[in-house]
Amino acid sequence: MKLKITVVAGDGIGPEVTGEAVAVLKQIAEQGGHEFTFTEKRIGGVAIKNDGTPLPQETLDAALASDAVLLGAVGAPEFNSLAPDKRPEGGLLQIRAALGGFANLRPCFSFKELTVNSPLRPEVIEGTDIMFVRELLGGAYFGKPREWNKEKGVGYNTMVYTSGEVERVARIAFQLAQKRRKKLTSVDKSNVLEVSQLWRAVVTEVGKDFPDVALEHQLVDSMAMHIMNRPRDFDVVVTENLFGDILTDESGVITGSLGMLPSATIGGKVNLYEPVHGSAPDIAGKGLANPLGAILTAALILRHSGGLEAEAAAVEAAVRKVLEQGCRTADLARGDKTGLTVLSTKEMGAKVRETVEKQLLAASR
Ligand code: NAD
Repeated sequence: MKLKITVVAGDGIGPEVTGEAVAVLKQIAEQGGHEFTFTEKRIGGVAIKNDGTPLPQETLDAALASDAVLLGAVGAPEFNSLAPDKRPEGGLLQIRAALGGFANLRPCFSFKELTVNSPLRPEVIEGTDIMFVRELLGGAYFGKPREWNKEKGVGYNTMVYTSGEVERVARIAFQLAQKRRKKLTSVDKSNVLEVSQLWRAVVTEVGKDFPDVALEHQLVDSMAMHIMNRPRDFDVVVTENLFGDILTDESGVITGSLGMLPSATIGGKVNLYEPVHGSAPDIAGKGLANPLGAILTAALILRHSGGLEAEAAAVEAAVRKVLEQGCRTADLARGDKTGLTVLSTKEMGAKVRETVEKQLLAASR
């Protein structure tokens, strides 16, 4: 398998965590005889300093010519006074728009060893394994008309979807469910919103092409409670942009640390992969960053751009294994550290690679 990957590490802890994700991918390529090539380009604050813009044309050209883009994080306090489109975060929005992905995948899972980091009770969250599919290019964030008319004292946005926009994201969600536990929950607010009535009708129609997937519909307000009360009951969850934004952040508390969460945005010209966390300037350059979210993001590259399911699963299993062995980065080791080994970013990356290597060797015997 050949994969051309553009790495845009960005600012703060971005280079530290993507460095470990790339090292895992290199190890898998070496072990499995795959040809992965990595091209490093600038984005965010580092690009503003070097190129005068948060997303240089050279970066965009490389991204568009690759099979996958791995992004670290952007943002640094020194740029906070700039206009929004001139700030590092502007580069992130621009690259997302240029790559055109409309389906944002946000896995939500609980690790037995990390339940202590979640405010929820272990017996509620243990075993959670949800794949959120958030529609990313439509709904209230993009709909027109939109305005805050200060003189008239009125503000409004438009939550709008076409059936085509709903259908394409629903298909991706059904296809993912087919490869998982064959259950899809579609979330809307169809008791109040016409746009949600369209959403529900289209998802139901698409479901006729996937008779092996059990489809259920939930209203977003009750879904917000169900995720906290019985997260294990959900497999794939598909929803529109605004609801997805809120539900995915809410469900992040199940995993218990921002540093653990991966994401992928697919369906556009080139898939974009990024850990959910930001550039964490408070811990940058200190070897304190948790690379596991970025490493789990690498697993998504293997699965969704490489079609390498066994290798993706090996990376995910290795992350579980190192946690079982008591390995923690500082963010995961607050409070009682009995039985835990606190590792730096690089040490954690090395531990995962060592474990992946053993797993793949065992699988090939
Ligand atoms: P943040 O995610 O950077 O950090 C929030 C808290 O979580 C901090 O205490 C940080 O130390 C900790 N944290 C985050 N990732 C971690 C990791 N991998 N390991 C250990 N601890 C981790 O969010 P913020 O502080 O609100 O934002 C900082 C900057 O990042 C801002 O400029 C913001 O705009 C930007 N940001 C970028 C992205 C992105 O690039 N996708 C996302 C969110 C925020």
